[in-house]
Amino acid sequence: MSKVKDAYKEIEGIIGSDFISDKDFMKAAYSRNVDPAFPDRWADIIVRPESTEEVSEIVKIANKYKIPIVPRGGGADLVGGSVSEGGILMDLTRMNRIIEIDEINYYCEVECGITWGALLSELQGQGLTTGVLGPGSGYSATIGGGLSNSTAGFGSTKYGVIPDICLGVEVVLPNPQGTIIRTGAAANKYAKPFCRYGVAPDFTGLFMGDVGTMGIKTKAFLRLHPETPFKAQRNYMLKKNDYNKVSELLYKLRKEIRDGLHDVLVIPVIVVQLLAGMVENKPVKRPRLKGPVFSILVESTDERVLDIYLEQIENLMKDDARPFEWQEIDPEEPLSKDWEFNLKYAYHYFNKFISVAPPKISCTTCHKVPISALPKVANLSNQFDINYRDEFPSQSIALFATVIFLLPNGNCVVVGGFNADNIDEQREKSMNMWHKKLRLQVRYGGVHYWLGEAISQSIVEANAYTPEFIQFFKDMKKVVDPNYLLSPKKFHMYSYDYDITQNIIKNEE
Ligand SMILES: Cc1cc2nc3c(=O)[nH]c(=O)nc-3n(C[C@H](O)[C@H](O)[C@H](O)COP(=O)(O)OP(=O)(O)OC[C@H]3O[C@@H](n4cnc5c(N)ncnc54)[C@H](O)[C@@H]3O)c2cc1C
Repeated sequence: MSKVKDAYKEIEGIIGSDFISDKDFMKAAYSRNVDPAFPDRWADIIVRPESTEEVSEIVKIANKYKIPIVPRGGGADLVGGSVSEGGILMDLTRMNRIIEIDEINYYCEVECGITWGALLSELQGQGLTTGVLGPGSGYSATIGGGLSNSTAGFGSTKYGVIPDICLGVEVVLPNPQGTIIRTGAAANKYAKPFCRYGVAPDFTGLFMGDVGTMGIKTKAFLRLHPETPFKAQRNYMLKKNDYNKVSELLYKLRKEIRDGLHDVLVIPVIVVQLLAGMVENKPVKRPRLKGPVFSILVESTDERVLDIYLEQIENLMKDDARPFEWQEIDPEEPLSKDWEFNLKYAYHYFNKFISVAPPKISCTTCHKVPISALPKVANLSNQFDINYRDEFPSQSIALFATVIFLLPNGNCVVVGGFNADNIDEQREKSMNMWHKKLRLQVRYGGVHYWLGEAISQSIVEANAYTPEFIQFFKDMKKVVDPNYLLSPKKFHMYSYDYDITQNIIKNEE
């Protein structure tokens, strides 16, 4: 019997035959993420453990037979992170329990396979929130995926990215012992998991944004907040298509409104035009679309304070922008004054503003930049698209940004990419251009976050890491994963002996 068959038998003995499969239809079902540039990739075995102990046992067996493992949550990754060519694909979505919601001390303990949709629906009923509400894919994306991808989402302008709300994790290390550890306050076996720092060095950070390379997260301890009762939204359209102005206004909003800002999205004029073109029942009057739209959401515990925020924003925007209503392009949209926040809104903004040409989100290049760098990176990005126009796959639309999303501390996310189709003839072209554009962004100092395979490899290709950092990364991984089994290929790391610098692309503008 092959080692895969032997491992299958042993894992079956642990989790039962209903939760392991090597059938073709299962492999096919798990062969993709939302990333058309990649080909289908079939794992050898799909497993669906139900507990931390089962994960640990599977890890021991994988080590015994030296079979790689890739963890998977909701599989809503956009960059090839949660599929596996061969080896074991570990679907964690059966680990979906809420273990504790502590409404007095404002934290919760959950299993990492629970979706944002399920957790937030439960919290909402209790008047609680995690603040940042997970990604646009949150109905099906999991807490584990969000922590592993350093996900940004609705609420990130105020509450930061998902690792910012993490107080610690329970992790199964990919070592031969399948060691289980807890980080944050929970590293003190007598303590409740109510805070992150203090008991030991911040080992939680080792597993944040690791795209499943350092350990398999089985439980997470998350910060909670009481739901803020008053929220309002206002939209403004800039009078000119001027990214110096965008940068200046983002700075002023952050400086003056501070904690009142729940979300600030800037939707480029090209995207508004595309959205206007997609509306079925167009308005009688043709819209005048001159510049990007600022969509600003504020919150407060006091309605009077909310009114002050809205007045401040009006004053801040009035010289450079005019109030804008989505009704100008779509008569069926509500007016800002009638807008109400709900989870449906939080999860649909992605489909509305980001995936402007459905179903063609792909080759995503979302990354963070300091807000002062916006004009420069807009220019570089547009220039790249012009220079390499002929090298993009046919009919693809490349956009500098489908949305700019303000984050805390003066940085913002530039959400963008270009569309590719799931067609074999286009795959090489799409993949080449994708990596090339990512390298440009890395070299102008952009910081990506959902790294998966495509982006983590592009960072290496762009020669971003110093030799010392690469060595440190390898040394840290070797401590937790001596047989190099967890998520191989990410960061162009194929083994500890492999010299990843041979993947550096030199002599590129
Ligand atoms: C429509 C749509 C909207 C999106 N909106 C956003 C957005 O607003 N913001 C954003 O940041 N991203 C967004 N994304 C990208 C993606 O959905 C998110 O990054 C999301 O957090 C991934 O969660 P998941 O559970 O689907 O993870 P998966 O795709 O299953 O996995 C993501 C990565 O994490 C690893 N992983 C998963 N679970 C674990 C675990 N328990 N332990 C260790 N490693 C693990 C995987 O190996 C993989 O590398 C969007 C994607 C789509 C399709």
